[in-house]
Amino acid sequence: MKKVVIIGGGFTGSKVAKSLENEFDVTLIDTKNYFEFTPSVLSAITDPTSIDNIQLMHLHYLKKAKLIVGKVEKISEKEVFVDKRKIAFDYLVISSGSKYSFPFKEHDALMTNRANRLRAHYSDLQNSKNILIIGGGLSGVELAGEIVTKYKDKIITVVHAMDRLIERQPLKASRYVQKFLEKNRVKIIFNEMIKGSKRIGNDEEFFTDKGTRIKSELAFLCVGITPNSEFMKKSFPKLIDGKGYISTDEFLNLKGFKNIFVGGDVTDIKEEKTARVSLEHAEIIKKNLINLEKNKPLERYKHKERAMLLSLGNHKGILTYKKFVMKGFIPRMIKKHVQNKEMRWLKK
Ligand SMILES: Cc1cc2nc3c(=O)[nH]c(=O)nc-3n(C[C@H](O)[C@H](O)[C@H](O)COP(=O)(O)OP(=O)(O)OC[C@H]3O[C@@H](n4cnc5c(N)ncnc54)[C@H](O)[C@@H]3O)c2cc1C
Repeated sequence: MKKVVIIGGGFTGSKVAKSLENEFDVTLIDTKNYFEFTPSVLSAITDPTSIDNIQLMHLHYLKKAKLIVGKVEKISEKEVFVDKRKIAFDYLVISSGSKYSFPFKEHDALMTNRANRLRAHYSDLQNSKNILIIGGGLSGVELAGEIVTKYKDKIITVVHAMDRLIERQPLKASRYVQKFLEKNRVKIIFNEMIKGSKRIGNDEEFFTDKGTRIKSELAFLCVGITPNSEFMKKSFPKLIDGKGYISTDEFLNLKGFKNIFVGGDVTDIKEEKTARVSLEHAEIIKKNLINLEKNKPLERYKHKERAMLLSLGNHKGILTYKKFVMKGFIPRMIKKHVQNKEMRWLKK
């Protein structure tokens, strides 16, 4: 059996590993020993009992594939270097995703750390009255929605550098979200950026580029993702761009390498980085690995406009598709259904 090594057990990596473990000798290398359904991590911050529903140990859904918990430091055309070990491959899948500040994503080696830290964050949240959310994109808005619908006594401020929330979505969606948050007592500051903070007693006072001061005991940074591609720097420095995204061709191959595939957040494909897209990359990578073995032509990945789901607490949400916007209870239920479906598929 040919050896397939996969770097990263997020949406792309776990799907490729599970789909191919009967056809290939698969090794999944991940910095953590579990899969996490990141889109629902925001509800875990306000309700730690849901952590068990969004995390699943890799060895619970992989029957044959091997798991290495560790951080890949370097790769070559034939090998992966992890914790002083060299792992040879016939095919490599790079699906190392992206970093986001804690508590949204992190790369701990132990599952208990992450779950404990999420629980600790829950208690910080309970003990804080003034909460600052930096960034009014999808994560910032969802987090504000989660907190206001679960706690009635918090004073929440969202600082957003643009003139409307979730500005890549249709105007109608931005307006709905703004109305929902303001109705729930969230203060939104547009067109300003947080520049720094200083400690005053137990509180932190943040200040913006326009001089606005905001006191808060707890702040969440909800801006910007950084691709996890440090291991490319030594051997393939020309195949990462200035931001760290990896050069990927239309077959999801690493440019110039037929035996190496790239999928998920870490690719340099110009599209919204989402779990949905990562799963579609996984599907193409799976098919192309099988095609390569059967000497069949490779399938092209085509970027498609996709629906986007955003939740505002447990009962409201938005679905957008191109200019279409659906608001209210149904989008929230669809988002829950998507999570359950994905976790069920893995557990099967
Ligand atoms: C707060 C938040 C909310 C979101 N909400 C939504 C949503 O509602 N809908 C949606 O579609 N998308 C959402 N997303 C985006 C979605 O989570 C990502 O697009 C998706 O997780 C990307 O999947 P991936 O497989 O590329 O990588 P990831 O899920 O990031 O997984 C990568 C894995 O690789 C591991 N890794 C990294 N470096 C190394 C290394 N050197 N060696 C070994 N392992 C490594 C990491 O630990 C991780 O396990 C959200 C993201 C965040 C942060």
